[in-house]
Amino acid sequence: MKKSGGLIYLDNNATTRVDSRVFDEMEPWLREEYGNPSSAYGIGRKSSQALAAARERVASLIQAQPEEILFTSCGSESINTAIRSAISHDPDRTHVVTSAVEHSATIKLCEHLAKRGHEITLLPVDSLGRLDPERLKKSIREDTALVSLLWANNETGVLFPVAEIAAICREKKVPLHIDAVQAVGKLPINVHEFPISFLSLSGHKLHCPKGVGALFIRRRTRFTPWLIGGSQEEGRRGGTQNVAFITALGKAAELAADGIHDETVRIRALRDRLETTLQHRLSGVHVNGDPVFRLPNTTNLRFEGIESEGALMLFDKEGLCCSAGSACTSGSVHPSHVLTAMGVPRDGARASLRFSLGRFTTEEDIENAEKIVIRAVNKLRSL
Ligand code: PLP
Repeated sequence: MKKSGGLIYLDNNATTRVDSRVFDEMEPWLREEYGNPSSAYGIGRKSSQALAAARERVASLIQAQPEEILFTSCGSESINTAIRSAISHDPDRTHVVTSAVEHSATIKLCEHLAKRGHEITLLPVDSLGRLDPERLKKSIREDTALVSLLWANNETGVLFPVAEIAAICREKKVPLHIDAVQAVGKLPINVHEFPISFLSLSGHKLHCPKGVGALFIRRRTRFTPWLIGGSQEEGRRGGTQNVAFITALGKAAELAADGIHDETVRIRALRDRLETTLQHRLSGVHVNGDPVFRLPNTTNLRFEGIESEGALMLFDKEGLCCSAGSACTSGSVHPSHVLTAMGVPRDGARASLRFSLGRFTTEEDIENAEKIVIRAVNKLRSL
């Protein structure tokens, strides 16, 4: 696939380029195949069959059953749907356990819930961004309605120990929601290995357009739809389905599943090369987060003596895209809540940059990125 305008795009945790195979699969559903999937005649039935095929593909990416997949508009909606459902069943269960390094979709919802009388436990992480399962165990109470935790952190790539987390939740008989928006497509996932009740994913992290996501809801999990009434999605989410984007998500899921093992090896090697070169050629470069137990595509680096906003401006001039925090907080000068929770001081957080690789990252991109970063860091340090 052709590169767009000489860009070196190393911000794949923020969003990804739409794969042309995904686009091709989607296009007919935006043009001639416009039937409403709820309609009983031919073109309606075609749309409904397209939804069913996409549901199977998405389910298969995480080893779920098709009926366990609910299509949504994005990862944030999936997260909100799962959490709001879990707290809606029992007025005596109002406590939610999550962590201090979740995505803002979870953090903001929990802040909102706290104002409405819910008690929220924000589990801390250590200096490498790791969660202590023992602390999780101790935090679960009689009135805990849900544990909601990341699989992989969007800023550092650090992985939470999902197997242990799920075992604890099962023992304590508390439903578990996993925000796997960054993990799906980057790691092989089998929802039936672990007793997870809900799992959120998002299309635009998988080379699919923005505006579509999915929520895995394990069979027999108690579920209350969130706000949008209607009969679609088996009554779980109203509104005529976005057939084109859901079809795209199906194709994106299939492509992700096909390439997952080879891609992991290729991308990890490029990420490691970038990290090693920068650490050898520049002094004072530190990895934020667990260097081993993390996503293969992500490196979050702290460059002593620079400010990330300055670096981003220099990179931008040379066509290198990366991020100074999570996508949702870039543009703001607040240090990232993730790095802050890991105990990285304010200056250190402001000196940190996240590089996240993807399917279209080449060796040449990494070679060029290394040169650009080295030049920019040396320049900033000499000022
Ligand atoms: N969760 C994580 C870990 C994310 O990285 C993101 C997006 O960056 C989201 C949730 C939200 O997904 P979406 O942008 O599809 O709403």
